[in-house]
Amino acid sequence: MITVEQPELSIVVPIYNEAESISHLLDAITDAVKATQFSYEIVCVDDGSTDGSTELLTQIASQRTDLKAVILRRNYGQTPAMAAGFEYARGKVIITLDGDLQNDPADIPLLLAKLNEGYDLVSGWRQNRQDAALTRLLPSKIANWLIGKVTGVRIHDYGCSLKAYRAELVADMNLYGELHRFLPALAYIEGARITEIPVHHHARRYGKSKYGLGRTIRVVMDLFTVFFMKKFLTRPMHVFGFLGLISLTLGVLMGLYLTVLKLILQQSIGDRPLLILSALLVITGVQLFCFGLLAELLMRTYHESQQRPIYRVREVVEAGNRE
Ligand code: UDP
Ligand code: MG
Repeated sequence: MITVEQPELSIVVPIYNEAESISHLLDAITDAVKATQFSYEIVCVDDGSTDGSTELLTQIASQRTDLKAVILRRNYGQTPAMAAGFEYARGKVIITLDGDLQNDPADIPLLLAKLNEGYDLVSGWRQNRQDAALTRLLPSKIANWLIGKVTGVRIHDYGCSLKAYRAELVADMNLYGELHRFLPALAYIEGARITEIPVHHHARRYGKSKYGLGRTIRVVMDLFTVFFMKKFLTRPMHVFGFLGLISLTLGVLMGLYLTVLKLILQQSIGDRPLLILSALLVITGVQLFCFGLLAELLMRTYHESQQRPIYRVREVVEAGNRE
């Protein structure tokens, strides 16, 4: 039985076909967190494994009070597995890491120490990464640079699963697709204080990686989504309306110029490419405007249906009632 009290730490681990790693992993995590003296729970999410990980986890979880095994019905992917882990984690601080021993649980105390300096999210930055150079490290370098540029969050290693979060922060975020990589960026949009510390990284000892090159493309797609969320989520009209206004103004100016040519200077304008451009710009401008209005409506529905406030409160301070 897991204790009713809220533990200090929840360690969330997604597991997809990592049977050989599981017992080593649990030992390493237990050693690391026991040393911190904090109360803890380990939440392993089995993401539809087919190699016996499911049975192994079920068996261990029925014997250990500090382990909760969440077994998903099929393989959903790492992000849904992590989202399930967040859902079942009850700790005040949530730590995520991979189930393949590539992250080192011994780094957990360092993450916690950093978090306690007053951050909401501490991300690991893998030193001496033990992955293939061409297929993994290069795409990752490019992705990290791009994500940093687009989101404005300056950390070196978005792909590192080893991270520590304050639970309130995680509760505020919805995860879709493969967005777990963008948690720091999403957290930043939510106003979180974010930092990173160097962590260890090991080569995979057992099993094999679940990803190939295709991931790079998906990361880029996800980047668009995050960029959109950051820019447009609350004021789409400011973006689309502005573009529409530019387009409309240019189109109207060109149209006026052509009108002057035609009516005052009596020139023929039927064969001028400028005429087509002017018409196109006017139409595009109107379209963008309408699109901005529609997006406004959609965003309102989004915020109101989920009762998502457009702000996030860090804390409320009142005399005699500090929470
Ligand atoms: N994982 C998962 N579901 C998936 C793919 C991966 O839960 O569909 C887990 C996997 O078991 C591991 C973590 O996500 O714990 C990271 O996967 P992997 O080690 O293959 O990624 P890499 O380290 O190669 O980037
Ligand atoms: Mg791995």
